[in-house]
Amino acid sequence: MKSIVVANWKMNPATFKEARKLFEATRKAAESAKNVAVIVAPPAIFLRELSVGYKGKRLSFAAQNAHYEAGGAFTGEISMSEARDAKCSSVIIGHAERRGMGEENDDTRRKVVAALTIGLTPVLCVGERTRSQSGEHFEFVREQLVAGFADVPPAKIPRVIIVYEPVWAIGAERPMNARDMHEMAIFIRKTVVDRYGQGGMNLKILYGGSIDESNAEDMIQNGDVNGLLVGRASTDAEKFSALVSALGAL
Ligand code: PEP
Repeated sequence: MKSIVVANWKMNPATFKEARKLFEATRKAAESAKNVAVIVAPPAIFLRELSVGYKGKRLSFAAQNAHYEAGGAFTGEISMSEARDAKCSSVIIGHAERRGMGEENDDTRRKVVAALTIGLTPVLCVGERTRSQSGEHFEFVREQLVAGFADVPPAKIPRVIIVYEPVWAIGAERPMNARDMHEMAIFIRKTVVDRYGQGGMNLKILYGGSIDESNAEDMIQNGDVNGLLVGRASTDAEKFSALVSALGAL
């Protein structure tokens, strides 16, 4: 079974020397697991130097974030075209940590369409902050999805990768239950199909939140997902290699 694994390094590691070492281990892991498509999202400042030196095909690069405007007075931001020029083929949009810093559904809407327009794959993150018995989290996720796809032409809907990341499971002790993910995957597809048409049936859905080498296989086999977004475990060369090789054996 072909799986996608996004390695979100966040603001790590501290030096380019360490980044190169981590990348080397990531590259080896990706190249030895033929049915795993690894997407590495290093800090923007390390991106180009890692990507231009990579000549293989087993691995691709993502920006952790990019602005929807083509250029201008946006100190500290990078644009979609700058990300593409640095050899990114995808961009993470609406990660919970960006949303926590003020990114809103309206920003993600603009970013998704800006990415598609320039030929980058949007990796759109959605997920509720908390859960209660009353199931309000479904409505919360529905709003994020409806906004994210609002300006996407129907034919391009399947090009968007969705990552469901419940905020309470990011940086936590354990991931959410795979059966709950299965339920959420059905909900995500149904929401996009009901609102935007059949293209939603072909969406790729990933799970993110406290995935490591010990639980990745269970989530892929029982969570109805096409892959995983990995934070902490992606910056630990040993854990990440074990995770990729576990998925490679499926
Ligand atoms: C994340 O980066 O979104 C993430 C899921 O982090 P972690 O795997 O550390 O929970």
